[in-house]
Amino acid sequence: MTHRIRKLLIANRGEIACRVMATCERLGIKTVAVYSDADRDALHVAMADEAVHIGPAPARESYLVAEKIIDACKRTGADAVHPGYGFLSENPAFAEACQKAGIIFVGPSAQSMRAMALKGAAKALMEDAGVPVVPGYHGDDQSLETLVAEAELIGFPVLIKAVAGGGGKGMRKVYSLEELPSAIEGARREGENSFGDGTLLIEKLIEKPRHIEMQVFGDVNGTAVHLFERDCSLQRRHQKVIEEAPAPGMSAEMRRAMGDAAVKAAEAIGYVGAGTVEFIVDVANGIDGAPFYFMEMNTRLQVEHPVTEAITGQDLVEWQIMVAEGKDLPLAQDEIEMMADGHAVEVRLYAEDPYGGFLPATGKIGLFDPFANVGAGQRIDAGVRAGDAVSIHYDPMIAKLIAWGEDRESAINALIDLVENTPVSGLTTNRDFLISALKDKDFRAGDVHTGFIEAHKNTLLTKPAVSAHDYALASAAILAARHTRIEGTDPWAMADNFRLNLAHSEKLWFENEDGEVITATVAACNSTVTITVADATVDARIIDFDGDTLTLEVDGLRSRLFAEVDEAKVTLVTPERTMVIKRHARDGGLDDEVEGPGTITAPMPGKILDVKVTDGETVEKGQPLLIMEAMKMEQTITAPKAGTVSGLALTPGQQVTGGAVLLTIQDKE
Ligand code: ADP
Ligand code: ADP
Ligand code: MG
Repeated sequence: MTHRIRKLLIANRGEIACRVMATCERLGIKTVAVYSDADRDALHVAMADEAVHIGPAPARESYLVAEKIIDACKRTGADAVHPGYGFLSENPAFAEACQKAGIIFVGPSAQSMRAMALKGAAKALMEDAGVPVVPGYHGDDQSLETLVAEAELIGFPVLIKAVAGGGGKGMRKVYSLEELPSAIEGARREGENSFGDGTLLIEKLIEKPRHIEMQVFGDVNGTAVHLFERDCSLQRRHQKVIEEAPAPGMSAEMRRAMGDAAVKAAEAIGYVGAGTVEFIVDVANGIDGAPFYFMEMNTRLQVEHPVTEAITGQDLVEWQIMVAEGKDLPLAQDEIEMMADGHAVEVRLYAEDPYGGFLPATGKIGLFDPFANVGAGQRIDAGVRAGDAVSIHYDPMIAKLIAWGEDRESAINALIDLVENTPVSGLTTNRDFLISALKDKDFRAGDVHTGFIEAHKNTLLTKPAVSAHDYALASAAILAARHTRIEGTDPWAMADNFRLNLAHSEKLWFENEDGEVITATVAACNSTVTITVADATVDARIIDFDGDTLTLEVDGLRSRLFAEVDEAKVTLVTPERTMVIKRHARDGGLDDEVEGPGTITAPMPGKILDVKVTDGETVEKGQPLLIMEAMKMEQTITAPKAGTVSGLALTPGQQVTGGAVLLTIQDKE
């Protein structure tokens, strides 16, 4: 029996909610978003046909409350729910509650979820089905004597896992008998505290593993297929950062064997919908003929599903909807084999600090365009846009960037291009780290394994220093920003030559990461500036600055970079790097105090309320010059020194942006 879904509620947020809606739009299915207090202005809410507010920001009080989701379906007449990933996606009680309420749950049965929920039981089930599992113990007897005896039987090193664990929690590596009792105790405690279950399993620790998983799909008529593998070996904290398909170096023979094992796993539990069977591959002696073992099954759509879509040309969310409607799978296994084409790689762009232990970061996104024109084979899946906040409440993933190519090399190159063309500002991200990982020669050679990032920490996890050349670029950005800032009335905006508001020479100050002051000396002649920092001298010609993009010619070489200038810092995003360079306010006053004329710039964007002086007027130090309204507050701008006012062309009511040159005070002759 089939039922056509007419209105789908997406019980999720962020990129996956937007991703599901994109398919619904194409299929003519109406969409309903749900949102917490923190997500009132979120992209997924804006994209949906209807939206329902479901409570406070903490997920526990909104996105994780099954009754609120079911109630939202009833209020909007949604006939189906897509749970996305995370949140309620692997919650069997929620799937059952949907069923009871007569709402289609786009996902597997509660029974399938339960079969795979505990790692020990799942392993036992897979063993019975003839799927290889990591050698180890997953019995009921949890006494210390038994666990110790089993560990010795397996042979060190071993890995202890809480059967209810997830997200890399509840795991302990043990290298010797002496460490064993305390590791058992620790893992048990973590299992109890985090997952309410201290039951443990022990398995052989694979010392050089690759994480390779198989995408599977089943329908209500009992057919199951796989859509090839994804290699997700590049991990930090046991979580994925870069994923690709196919797995580098995997032979057709191994693919067939792993595919068969995955389909067998799905069939063993009568699986319906999209699922992923995760395997661990022991590559100590290379990938050729390497043994692989079942690790766990994720009973939902996976974050990294776009790489599979890229190599098969299929829309997996559409498949999920078809299966949920009771239809047959659209393609048979041999037809899927014929669709496979090329290579795809995905990176997860996170708000996190790779140079600080990958700690999650929060903040407001300055620059980021999820709707940027991407090239053929490139894709951005995002749930945020410029101006949105990444908060402490949810996952810090900003976007997924995906690229397809005819082979691995061209896919990686296309992805590097995409990441380099996607500047992000306003908060700490892993963008630069992703670029260096994609460019790493061992990664490019396909020598990936789960310890890759740690093994390459010297090159991947060391923050590159800001060079003298970088400070020079920051100086050029400050000068360029001054020029374009007075909106509308800029007398030079149309001029061909970029005239800089600079007499002979001036100094700009920055602060390096150790808090030391860096001085840049700038000398200008028309639009060319000579900037000296330490021993380095850079000649830069400022070609254009539109407020975002700065075009420079440095030693005859033209380049474009994103620049954001404010009183406290200069943010520069070049294709490869993101730099936030602190400005140092010399003498606590204006940072660009000059020898010669005193240039007065707007401390922040705002409106001119009153002009207290006229052009050419002589003023005393401290005399009020202008009254500005900024950040809803009035500010009086006073003369930093005595002199004659020049270059004043402001009228009350005029808007100015931060850093705009307002007027100059010339020294008295
Ligand atoms: P994948 O293999 O798809 O990367 P993860 O285990 O990384 O799967 O989880 C996918 C997403 O699901 C994560 O980004 C996270 O936000 C969410 N997630 C994972 N586990 C939980 C959990 N226990 N509770 C809430 N969200 C979770
Ligand atoms: P989780 O539920 O936290 O995702 P998994 O069992 O999927 O737990 O394991 C997470 C990660 O831990 C794997 O992707 C892999 O990197 C590592 N891992 C798991 N089992 C082993 C093992 N036996 N030997 C070495 N590494 C392992
Ligand atoms: Mg896992």
